[in-house]
Amino acid sequence: METKEILANLRAENGLTQDEMAEKLFVTRQAVSRWETGKTTPNPETLKLISEKFRVSINSLLGGDEPAVCQSCSMTLLATEDLATEADGSTNVEYCSHCYQNGSFTDADKTIEEMIETNLCFLDEFNAQNGSSYSEDEARAILRMHLATLKRWAV
Ligand SMILES: [Zn+2]
Repeated sequence: METKEILANLRAENGLTQDEMAEKLFVTRQAVSRWETGKTTPNPETLKLISEKFRVSINSLLGGDEPAVCQSCSMTLLATEDLATEADGSTNVEYCSHCYQNGSFTDADKTIEEMIETNLCFLDEFNAQNGSSYSEDEARAILRMHLATLKRWAV
């Protein structure tokens, strides 16, 4: 499901009108209406508020059963602070805040090879977290395959 449907369902499940939902979240009814038609996505602060008030995870608001990952660097998007923003302040749910801010990539000229090298800086951390022992070459090959499936790098 997309965020717009999830938000509409959440409102219906809670028996709220658009006006009541808006009041709970300190936004206008028009804003709620725009979310539900998919014109905009709530900004990160509002997503956080929705998550708290309705006791749903950020991840489920973004529409995934699996944790959403940044479609540029593959970082897992777990917190609203991690989410990218569009020029109008609404949330971009596809990228993280390091890769994409205010409607554009923070490093627009970056190539997939450069992204692989950036991710390799965290190899020790990754190995420690996952109990794995990938060498740099192994990790590079895996990253190249994995990143190529992400939206930013898919050809
Ligand atoms: Zn990213």
